[in-house]
Amino acid sequence: MSAEERFTAKPIKRILLKISGESFCPPSERGISMDSVNRLASQIARVASRGTQIAVVMGGGNILRGAQFKASDGASAIQEATAHYMGMLATVINGSALHDALESQGRPTRLMTAIQMDAVAEPYIRRRALRHLEKGRVVVLAGGMGTPFVTTDTAAAQRALELEVDYLFKATKVDGVYSADPNKDPSAVFYPQLTFEDAISQNLRVMDQEAFAKCRDHNMPVLVFNFRIDGNLDRAVRGERVGTLICD
Ligand code: UDP
Repeated sequence: MSAEERFTAKPIKRILLKISGESFCPPSERGISMDSVNRLASQIARVASRGTQIAVVMGGGNILRGAQFKASDGASAIQEATAHYMGMLATVINGSALHDALESQGRPTRLMTAIQMDAVAEPYIRRRALRHLEKGRVVVLAGGMGTPFVTTDTAAAQRALELEVDYLFKATKVDGVYSADPNKDPSAVFYPQLTFEDAISQNLRVMDQEAFAKCRDHNMPVLVFNFRIDGNLDRAVRGERVGTLICD
């Protein structure tokens, strides 16, 4: 059965949801708006309360990305690796906010970090994360992979494989994958479904290349969808066609 048939044929048991930091603030702002976080949390809580197991990989771009400190003329006082660690810490700040927002909506949640910080969160241990998921707890994964020079997209692909999820859901601010940026090019064509090879041959940017290659190599289906539209996550989990599905 193809991933497309699976998508509509059987209920989705477990997903990995990748949330970019930019979902945590209004468009073109930075930082954390608890309105935005609460809206996201209520979508996640709604789906979790119906029995879908959810692990969330949290981004940090609303606070900082390591690459922004890369000075081409060598003028930055912050080493590039240090900047990436700062980015990972940003994901922990976001993860903490999402943790509390989910719990305040009555949804049992665990925050786990790839960089050990005992006073803040549990360390990420795969089997423990699986146990939390089986018990119906939302698992928020922060700190990315715990290593510099990669993004949280790569962490999302890696954890999706480790946690044996049915789909990697990538939440974005547009409706899915287009032939060009729909905000800049009104003739951009929307793709409801693509194969991994289509996306590569047409040079479509779905997620960072390392992450995308991991999903392709292990046949992990990816659904790219617009998280700003309330109810989209719920619709997608129920098998309605939302966003762009990328599978073999
Ligand atoms: N980061 C890292 N290693 C990881 C994950 C993240 O070094 O495993 C750093 C990297 O600098 C990245 C930043 O953390 O730019 C924030 O993550 P990302 O840019 O993926 O956040 P998003 O764009 O999803 O909000």
